[in-house]
Amino acid sequence: MKYEWILFDADNTLLDFTKASEKAFAKALQNMDIPHQVDYFSRYKKANHVVWTAFENGEIEAITLRSKRFELFLTDIQIERDPALFNTHYLNNLVAHTTLYKGALNMLDGLKDKTKLGLITNGLKEVQRPRLRHTGIYHLFDTIVVSDEIGVAKPNPAYFDYVFREMNYPPKEKVLVVGDNLLSDIKGGINYGTDTCWFNPENKENTTPFSPTFVARNFEEILKGLK
Ligand SMILES: [Mg+2]
Repeated sequence: MKYEWILFDADNTLLDFTKASEKAFAKALQNMDIPHQVDYFSRYKKANHVVWTAFENGEIEAITLRSKRFELFLTDIQIERDPALFNTHYLNNLVAHTTLYKGALNMLDGLKDKTKLGLITNGLKEVQRPRLRHTGIYHLFDTIVVSDEIGVAKPNPAYFDYVFREMNYPPKEKVLVVGDNLLSDIKGGINYGTDTCWFNPENKENTTPFSPTFVARNFEEILKGLK
C-alpha cells in the first residue's frame, strides 16, 4: 500500500447524490403541494449549481445557500412558497433517500485494515453525518471533516490544514485524495501537495488545468492505483 491515508469525497464518489437528490426533490415538491413538471428538477439543479458555485468561491455563506437555491427555483417557476420550508423538507428527504454506489462498502471494508481512511466533504452539517450513518459507512472512517461544520470548504488550503491536523500531519506524499470534482477535490489536493485520484465513472473530459495522479472509472481502478 502506497498511502498511509486515503481521503474520500462523499457525494458522487461513494454516495449516489444524483439519485438521492432527484428523489428528495420530487418528495419535497409533494410536501410543498407543488405539482411536478418534467423540467423542474433540471431547473432546480441549475439554481443549486449557481448557489454552490458562489459558495465554493466564497461569495455567499452556507446559511444563505440553503434557502437561496429554492428561492431562485420558485422565482423561476413563478410559484409562491416558503423557500426555507422547501429546503427543510428537501434535506430531511435527502437523508432518507441517500444510497451508496454498488461496491463502495466492499471497497472501504477491504481498505480499512490496510490504511487510514478519511471522509472529506463539502456538505451541510444537518445532513452529512446522518447520511453517512444512514448508509452504514460512518464507522469506517478514522476522521470525517464536513466543510459546513468548520466554516471552510475544499479546495481552500485552510480546509486541508484542518484535515491534516486531524490526521496528525502525515507526509503529504503518503496521502491520496479521491473525488469526482476536479475543481474542489483534485484542485484542492494538487495545490496542497497530495496525490489525487479523479473518480470519473462517466468518462468526462478534463477541461481544467488540473491533472490528477491517476484517473479511475470504477472502484477496481481506484484499488489498482493504490499499489
Ligand atoms: Mg463529489
